[in-house]
Amino acid sequence: MHLTIGSLRIDLIDDGLFELRPETFVKVTKGRNAELLYKSKFRPRIKVGFNSLLIRGEGKIILVDPGTGDKERFTERRNYNLDWPRRTLSVLRELGVRREEVDLVVLTHLHWDHAGACTTVGFSGQLEPTFPKARVILQQRELDGARAALSDGDDGYCADDFEPLVSARKLELLAQDDELIYPWLGCHWSGGHSAGHMVVRIGYPGGPRVMFPSDVLPTTAQLDLESGMSYDQNPAELLAAKLKFMTLAAQDQDVIVLVHAPRNRAGVLKQVSDREFEFEHIALENRNTKTGPHQ
Ligand SMILES: [Zn+2]
Repeated sequence: MHLTIGSLRIDLIDDGLFELRPETFVKVTKGRNAELLYKSKFRPRIKVGFNSLLIRGEGKIILVDPGTGDKERFTERRNYNLDWPRRTLSVLRELGVRREEVDLVVLTHLHWDHAGACTTVGFSGQLEPTFPKARVILQQRELDGARAALSDGDDGYCADDFEPLVSARKLELLAQDDELIYPWLGCHWSGGHSAGHMVVRIGYPGGPRVMFPSDVLPTTAQLDLESGMSYDQNPAELLAAKLKFMTLAAQDQDVIVLVHAPRNRAGVLKQVSDREFEFEHIALENRNTKTGPHQ
């Protein structure tokens, strides 16, 4: 499943499903107070997906949030009923991309389901970078926040996913809120879900673009501005980030890829009032957006 914008081909890679408890889906303005959680009418577990992006073009091969990876994950496999093995690394092979060919990995944040695939157990039995030649980009605030959260016992992070990258000097830490890695690849701090969470935008300004809001808008269940997840660290910050990025995406008609959508993974946002949005699903197979030389 892919789309083309200008000279860039973007594949959505389905890393596999996992399950969350319904209590995970909360009203962000009401914080983490358990008695204020949604009274869910769903089954006891909700299936969510995981969608990584592979971007090829302009002489680069780039991964955004490569997923859980191939390290053993006994605790997460049990707690979240993870589809196993995860798929991103094998799908890369099927798409003809070798690990050594990946130039850049962009991490929206360091939670294990997004960043785990960055490290793997090598032949020596030691953890090493999965993509040996890739720079790995994330916010400085995310690394600091992840280390602090880990020392507080937060199990959303796993040091094995990123400390080997620090040791191997693979990390490139962004200090600014908005940084262009290339003229067609923007990284934009959002915070909210985690200290250094960022939103990724692909495409040249003024042309068709793809937005990957990651856990700022993980599924259509969070389209309501006040709906979030119990993992969100800073509800007020998340609310502001949702309004900012959803308004921007609606204005510019970005194609949005929803990281945790199990189906209907891509679409366009329509702003129906100041604080209300609708999501129009689009089928991606071989879809070309409005303009660009490759139509
Ligand atoms: Zn996530």
